[in-house]
Amino acid sequence: MLGTDIGIDLGTASVLVYIRGHGTVLQEPSVVAIDKNTNSIVAVGEEARSMLGRTPGNIVATRPLREGVISDFNITEKMLKYFIHKAIGRPLLRKPRIAVCVPSNVTEVERRAVEDATRQAGARQVFVIEEPIAAAIGAGIDIARACGSMLVDVGGGTTDVAVFTMGAMALSRSAKVAGNALEDAIARYLRRERNVLVGRLTAEEIKKRVGCARLRPAELGIYVRGQSYTTRMPVRIEVSSTEAYLAMRERLREITNAIRGILEETPPEMAGDIYDQGIILTGGGALLRDLDVMLRQETGLPAQVARSPAQCVALGLGVMMDRPDILRDNGYVFRTDDDIGEFERNRNL
Ligand code: ADP
Ligand code: MG
Repeated sequence: MLGTDIGIDLGTASVLVYIRGHGTVLQEPSVVAIDKNTNSIVAVGEEARSMLGRTPGNIVATRPLREGVISDFNITEKMLKYFIHKAIGRPLLRKPRIAVCVPSNVTEVERRAVEDATRQAGARQVFVIEEPIAAAIGAGIDIARACGSMLVDVGGGTTDVAVFTMGAMALSRSAKVAGNALEDAIARYLRRERNVLVGRLTAEEIKKRVGCARLRPAELGIYVRGQSYTTRMPVRIEVSSTEAYLAMRERLREITNAIRGILEETPPEMAGDIYDQGIILTGGGALLRDLDVMLRQETGLPAQVARSPAQCVALGLGVMMDRPDILRDNGYVFRTDDDIGEFERNRNL
């Protein structure tokens, strides 16, 4: 019997675990709550997330990954272990093979850190895949084709823009403006314009419920709770979609600029292909209402949100585990044939 194959999208906002033959079995926030006194983990994932901003003194809820890189190795490793065990749900006869993604512009040290954490978390073999490649495959882009396609992944910490041609990533750029920055912008706007402090989770709720990348013709509103900036008393206010839009507008422009920047660097033939093919949007941030419409207007390119955008990376990793040819194109070589799992990264390629 073959061992289990697992794909893990280790994101700044969420972790998704994909098991071959079962699909995405777990999707939880990448948050860990730690007891500072004992240095032990109190909660992971959804449970830890609800503690963000409201933990007692000795418990801190943290995101071990920031802007796409591992800021705390130990905690990341423990979080991975927890999610892998939770996803599998039973003891395995054989350690799994795990494909895990890293953002496109991580350093070799960071890549190694992800690899080590995954191995420590119980993998028999680890494939570290660049995230945009997995996202593109998961979005159904045929990256092997000779024409340029552009992928824009809007996550929590970063927006990654990549251009693919002939099975390889030709260009990529990462901008540190994505979901989190939009939330910060909403919180800042409400403090400045409404004199109200709101927490991170509330800002996210506003963004998801009434946020829009364009001014909505028909205004929506949402009631949220916050705290008066001056009196520090609890308050309840209505926030409109127009306010959410105005708050996010500048940051959205930065996302557009990152895309424009990479288009300027793209060689003319490929740029022409992108004009025909358009942009595919992935990542949870792609769910922001009218982001595709706004990008079409601002760049003049066709833009389209992938199906289940937040799951593209995990799905793509799952597909890649089935496709030794893609793994090989990404530098993994087949070594022995008694175990189809025994690929090893060939660093000399
Ligand atoms: P990462 O890869 O960094 O973990 P994800 O791809 O999981 O990030 O995307 C997470 C981001 O997507 C968060 O900032 C979250 O607020 C945002 N998001 C999720 N759903 C929506 C939605 N419906 N509208 C706007 N943003 C959303
Ligand atoms: Mg991601």
